[in-house]
Amino acid sequence: MSEGRTPERERDEDASAEQRIEHLYVHVPFCCSRCAYCDFHTLTIDDRAADPRVQRFCERAVEVVVEQAERGVVGDVETVYFGGGTPSALAGALGPLVERIVSAVRARPGAEITVEANPDTSDVASFEAMRRGGVTRVSVGAQSFDDEVLETLGRRHDADAALRALDDARRVGFDVSADLMCGVPGQTMASWERTLETALEEGLEHVSVYPLGLEEGTPLARAVREGRARGPDEDIAASMLELAEHVLEAADLARYEISNYAVPGRESRHNTSYWVGAPYVGVGPSAASMCGPSVAGRTGAGLSCESGTERVRFVVGEGLEAFDEGALGRLREVECMTGREADVEDVVLGLRLAAGVTARRADAAGVLGALEEMEDRGLLVRSSEGFRLHGRGWLLANEVFGAVWALR
Ligand code: SF4
Repeated sequence: MSEGRTPERERDEDASAEQRIEHLYVHVPFCCSRCAYCDFHTLTIDDRAADPRVQRFCERAVEVVVEQAERGVVGDVETVYFGGGTPSALAGALGPLVERIVSAVRARPGAEITVEANPDTSDVASFEAMRRGGVTRVSVGAQSFDDEVLETLGRRHDADAALRALDDARRVGFDVSADLMCGVPGQTMASWERTLETALEEGLEHVSVYPLGLEEGTPLARAVREGRARGPDEDIAASMLELAEHVLEAADLARYEISNYAVPGRESRHNTSYWVGAPYVGVGPSAASMCGPSVAGRTGAGLSCESGTERVRFVVGEGLEAFDEGALGRLREVECMTGREADVEDVVLGLRLAAGVTARRADAAGVLGALEEMEDRGLLVRSSEGFRLHGRGWLLANEVFGAVWALR
């Protein structure tokens, strides 16, 4: 065993050297327009059926996945997640893309295949096409059921369209999740409560709740700087997040991660894989991957890490040109982590979950003292199972993560 390597890490790396990665993320880089708050790198497509970039992206994505399956990097997958961007903006090209990718990675029976869908680019016909392609779960970017809030966010749909998309997705038989956003300028507590209650009336099994952030370079940030709009208020957003916890948990949607609530058993298996430190492959412009060094070497992406590396994270560059190069795309970022850094990262990721992390894992990572200090400050609680976020700790999670990560 190398110095600083924990028994858990030793086992992880041994397993990943032999096994294929079971979690695949496909990043679809297209949107129909830019929302006011969004700083993601996306390409705007006007005429979805005729835009040659759609076909180019789909062919390249399949080519990359097939090659990674042939190289033994990914296979027998448990989850595939098509995120973006707006995967549903691919229109008629989406179903066949899902089908080809799911088949290339030999998804296991019962695999979770998720697609992010926006209300303005989804209907029963498109959901049925996704279903035929193998999709099992849809995450709808509803954001709000208040038209004024949707207008402030620069969304292309209104509340009725969001409700219609949720109904259509359920009718087609998907597990359905909705993204909801709070802390939006002009959004009142009453409006937020109505949005939460509407989500519950829809019978959703899964809800993701995010506070609006003001990201540099976005239309909203520009409008705030020029005095044309108000920015988000952190205190109001914090109160709204607390209200979400109260309303959703009272309706038996348990908080299982900082931003995520689900009926027990309906948690996102793909996203949970990130928080438990499972390896994943990301395909598409700006997609990230994480795995052990031996698997990273098998990708053919030309990754070389110094000795002592036990975890590698690498990110493809933005744009279709970057995606066209090499085995996975031209990489814009490669981070080689030691076993100790990986252990600390696992603690930070694990603390996102309501289940938290065991004291043994925190001790092995050398951060037990930091967690005890957070417990003294009331940000974490300790039980026989370990440490988990608690009370104000949910709101101040980034402070907790920063303090632990600084010890790597
Ligand atoms: S649909 Fe999503 S990815 Fe596209 S611009 Fe809006 S927030 Fe950004």
